[in-house]
Amino acid sequence: MTTTLYVDGEWRGAADGAVRDIRCPADGRLVGSVSEAGAGDTEQAIAAARRAFDSGPWRATTAAERGDLLLRVADLLDERQEEFARAEADDTGKRIVEARIDMGDIAACFRYFGKLAANEAGRLVDAGSADVLSRIQYEPVGVCALISPWNYPLLQAAWKIAPALAAGDTFVLKPAELTPHTAILMMHVLAEAGVPAGVANLITGAGATAGEPLSSHPDIDLVSFTGGLVTGRHIMANAAATVKKVALELGGKNPNVIFADADFDAALDNALNGAFVHSGQVCSAGARLIVEESIRDRFVDALVERAQGIRLGGPYDPEAETGPLISEAHRQKVDGYVRRAVEDGAVVRCGGREATDDDREGLSGGWYYLPTVLDRVARGSSAVSDEAFGPVVTVESFRTEDEAIEIANDTIYGLAGAVWTQDAGRAQRVANRLRHGTVWINDYHPYLPQAEWGGFKQSGFGRELGPTGLAEYVEAKHVYQNLRPAVTGWFADRRGGSAEPAGEAAEDA
Ligand code: NAD
Repeated sequence: MTTTLYVDGEWRGAADGAVRDIRCPADGRLVGSVSEAGAGDTEQAIAAARRAFDSGPWRATTAAERGDLLLRVADLLDERQEEFARAEADDTGKRIVEARIDMGDIAACFRYFGKLAANEAGRLVDAGSADVLSRIQYEPVGVCALISPWNYPLLQAAWKIAPALAAGDTFVLKPAELTPHTAILMMHVLAEAGVPAGVANLITGAGATAGEPLSSHPDIDLVSFTGGLVTGRHIMANAAATVKKVALELGGKNPNVIFADADFDAALDNALNGAFVHSGQVCSAGARLIVEESIRDRFVDALVERAQGIRLGGPYDPEAETGPLISEAHRQKVDGYVRRAVEDGAVVRCGGREATDDDREGLSGGWYYLPTVLDRVARGSSAVSDEAFGPVVTVESFRTEDEAIEIANDTIYGLAGAVWTQDAGRAQRVANRLRHGTVWINDYHPYLPQAEWGGFKQSGFGRELGPTGLAEYVEAKHVYQNLRPAVTGWFADRRGGSAEPAGEAAEDA
């Protein structure tokens, strides 16, 4: 029997016995079978998390103890890095070297929150009176629903799991249905590190069925969601009925602005990385190249030449530089986006179609798509407004700094963006005016566990990582103590028949 649901410290199968096969997108190979949870399974996981929060031993742990626990998790992840990396590479089709980097980043995330946990002890408030003790203390929010996507499956989940545990919350994790294996391994690691039964629960299954109760169930206090805009809107609407706390990390249409004075080779190389790493399946992908008119043709010609040379291949192909798309359905979606762009007048400078064995041997077995450069895209067209979430970069150009900023901000999204220039003043001016949650200057893609990550506008709200990434998972409680309790006299005491007028007594007090 397949038992990949982790509920109340026990492994179990879906109530109806349903199972889903997981295949590697690079070659269609079967990499495992997992339980396909239904809504009833999710409700049981929510009940377990609720019990563990309300009455289990977890509530009595100190922040320092939880911090130590997270550091143990980080050590265990390091010890088992290869096993985790292979599981991630098999589920996503990404190169094993990239999966190893992800696992290192995940351990770093647990270390960061492990050390931060005990530092957030609350604060004393000056109440303006020597007779009052006033303090703010941070308490766990309660039961959290953690919903994560398939592009960086465990990394995105770790950004939620680590602060939730540091804060003292309990949770139900629902990873994307296509990429569940590292989440399953993670539950083993959490148990080994000493997380009590019921604190960490895992549901594997589809969003519309297994995931749906997570945003509507009254016993969930917070939903932290990373995924697409449409799903995010649905989750937010569902959560409104019971006024849950909600954090949304949604998509992006991220501008990469190149001024003519930029270091040409560095900007070019990073434009390639920004657009095509993990075949563009990155929420912060630099999918919108905005190049100063005077270098535009030279820059785009060089980009096209390099994009055509990118080697596609599977996770264990040592010569591969990037991998497949996650699924056939997703490849069709990316191709549909390209077709629409062409109908709107975009010029395909390279790519623009599925990759086949003629492009490189072995590709026809997976969901590969050629790195694609779309030139001459029109302002306001779907090509520059819709997220492709694939290996597709559009090219626009500008003449002035103001125009560059206007184009870069002309999107409903606001996740990330970059500016390339050797003029230090301009770099800062542009960075200040970009309406995006992360701005890179002369770089693309790095992030730090100690720096907040999240979106402006319809890229979502709430922040992951950094101190705010922990603050999402706590409630601030004000505790106010009067050290010299006394009668206020606000209401007159008429018990003896006579009394002072209430207002005067109150003023005297
Ligand atoms: P998705 O919205 O389809 O799914 C994300 C998760 O939500 C999956 O686990 C899915 O099963 C679940 N889900 C779907 N419907 C649900 C429902 N009704 N209730 C509860 N859960 C439900 O997104 P995806 O295709 O997995 O991921 C791609 C998207 O994620 C892209 O738009 C990308 O930009 C975004 N993303 C954003 C960030 C970020 O940090 N902002 C990071 C990674 C990915």
